[in-house]
Amino acid sequence: MSNMNFEVITLFPKAFEIINNLGVITKALEKNLININLHDLREYGEGSYRQVDDKPYGGGSGMVLKPEPIYKAHDSINKLPKSKTLLMSPQGKVLKQEDFLRWSSLDQLIIICGQYEGFDERVRCLADEEVSMGDYVLSGGEIPAVSIINGLTRILPGTLGDPDSLIDESHNSSLLEYPHYTRPRVFKDMKVPDVLINGNHKEIELWRKEQMLNRTFQRRKDLIESQFSVQKHSDYDSNEWFWDI
Ligand code: SAH
Repeated sequence: MSNMNFEVITLFPKAFEIINNLGVITKALEKNLININLHDLREYGEGSYRQVDDKPYGGGSGMVLKPEPIYKAHDSINKLPKSKTLLMSPQGKVLKQEDFLRWSSLDQLIIICGQYEGFDERVRCLADEEVSMGDYVLSGGEIPAVSIINGLTRILPGTLGDPDSLIDESHNSSLLEYPHYTRPRVFKDMKVPDVLINGNHKEIELWRKEQMLNRTFQRRKDLIESQFSVQKHSDYDSNEWFWDI
């Protein structure tokens, strides 16, 4: 048993081969920090054709994943004490960094990937949480599942060479990360800010904090608003905000 055991129910297990080429995630697998078991839905299909989908009742386009194979695959998984089942769905709650933090204390995540038109409505009862990648529709739950495995694995202790890199990064707090620069000092007339070169760590820290606030304010005001109670004052123009922290 690893620190985190992923069990994925999917019609396309080959989609997960990408995990063997994902740098730190591949290393986590090699170091046995995580374990990934793929459960091929086809093996739980019905009849000699191993049928996993069928036409929707009431008509309409596309095929729907039948409930029985998904339930059988889910029943076949040996549940660990701290286990959750996630259903990949564009109708779910949109995935956030805080979800990774929440799930990192579990020892098992069972991920169900839909395909085609989706799954029979009765599959929903199997899930503790329905998770969406965002407000768009993909052809299957495999890419969302790979994203979850990736995002969760990189915050597990032992995965990253330098765990400090997790502290300031975007979405860890309600702020986006500050800009990074590496060599060369000047590239296509674009200069590295002087403050990063003068070696004054206090100044650098201050500059980075300021950049984080500015960036978030310019790009993702909604992140600040959702974290703090922000009141727009009607007496001022639209760029004036009062933060009620
Ligand atoms: N007809 C469905 C969409 C089916 S897409 C609907 O309108 O809700 C087929 C499958 O891809 C889904 O069952 C789900 O598992 C996966 N999928 C598609 N988009 C997704 C998203 N944004 N987040 C998570 N899973 C998604």
